[in-house]
Amino acid sequence: MARPGEGGQDWATLAASLDASDPLAAVRELFAPLGPDVVAYLDGNSLGRPLTAALTRLSEFASEQWQGRLIRGWSEGWMDWPTTIGDRLGRVALGAGPGQVVVADSTSVLLYKLARAAVDAGSTRRTVVVDSDNFPTDRYILEGIAAERGLRLAAIDTDPDAGVTPSQVEAIADGDTALVVLSHVAYRSGWMADAAAITEACHRAGAPVLWDLSHSVGAVPIHLDAWGADLAVGCSYKYLNGGPGAPAFAYVRAEHHQHLRQPIWGWMGHDEPFAMGPGYRPASGVRSLISGTPPITAMVPLLASIDLLERIGIDAVRAKSERLTAFAVALHDAWLAPLGVRLASPRHPDRRGGHITVRRDDFEAVNQRLWARGVLPDFRHPDGIRLGMAPPSTSFAEVLTAMAALRDEAASAAVPPHGATG
Ligand SMILES: *Cc1c(COP(=O)(O)O)cnc(C)c1O
Repeated sequence: MARPGEGGQDWATLAASLDASDPLAAVRELFAPLGPDVVAYLDGNSLGRPLTAALTRLSEFASEQWQGRLIRGWSEGWMDWPTTIGDRLGRVALGAGPGQVVVADSTSVLLYKLARAAVDAGSTRRTVVVDSDNFPTDRYILEGIAAERGLRLAAIDTDPDAGVTPSQVEAIADGDTALVVLSHVAYRSGWMADAAAITEACHRAGAPVLWDLSHSVGAVPIHLDAWGADLAVGCSYKYLNGGPGAPAFAYVRAEHHQHLRQPIWGWMGHDEPFAMGPGYRPASGVRSLISGTPPITAMVPLLASIDLLERIGIDAVRAKSERLTAFAVALHDAWLAPLGVRLASPRHPDRRGGHITVRRDDFEAVNQRLWARGVLPDFRHPDGIRLGMAPPSTSFAEVLTAMAALRDEAASAAVPPHGATG
């Protein structure tokens, strides 16, 4: 990353030139505009912004399909959405061949289904490996499964400013490991795990691995088939811009379809749902992961995101993401580090996902003041402000604006509180 001072340019000039040479600059215009009270949005890793096409599709879906087709919609295509959209997502974002991805439920629920299926798969192994800094729902769900099945949880003690390494997995996975569950990109630090090497380490110990892709899908390339991954889940409302509560996805490697059985046996995962027969018989393949009626309306915005990603390609997204986070890191070093702020994310771009976290003791209050100014990153306990830069919708100028506001608030926090300003 070039720095101001070289050739006399300042940070604003640098941001402008990065925006001018951004091959994805025009894509920003495809998003519905920010509200007048939002100055900079750096939370696309938590809730992605809506594409204008997603809003149009939602209203068209409501009038043409829901209102117009009513019950007929199910036999005219809705029944297949979980797997047809899953296949498209697999191809465009997951490096997964057809027949291995389904869209359903929430990440938490799919994680439960897959992890339960994996630990139940006839093994005598009694330990589930997780990392201590994994997203809370992942740790809680596994804690619940361990209690339910009388298993032991073993935690990899991760550096919260970095993440899990292949050698840590190597050291903990052994002949008693029933399953390893890890995040591809860590939700706080943004650390991107070496998924291929870690998957291989799990397999050497004879253990399957379940990747949580929630913080990586739509931001970084994923190669589930090539990694040899066994299982994966992820959500579609972060970098995939699916909207609040958009359904999650699950991947089950084809070779596991025969011997894995998920624990919630609902009618929609039955081989013949409308036979309404006496006993459960799972559908073949990933369709058996479905339990109840698929959330069709909630999948509609995802169609617009997949179209966009198919057009621009994940490699272009990743290339811009690397530039955005490098720019934010450079601004941290120039403006925030002198104020006692610490970068809690990897410096090496190969190990960094689409967001960074910066830390200081008083950042919870600083984050509140940023929100009051219309600058929206988010706060993560205990003292982190997380800056998520969604490549299709975020400009370098926006990153500059947010970092300048953060610098000003961090600087003013050192002096006595302001008087009331009304
Ligand atoms: C966001 C996120 C989730 C979210 O789970 P929900 O069931 O959608 O609430 C799960 N895991 C990780 C790693 C996440 O980042």
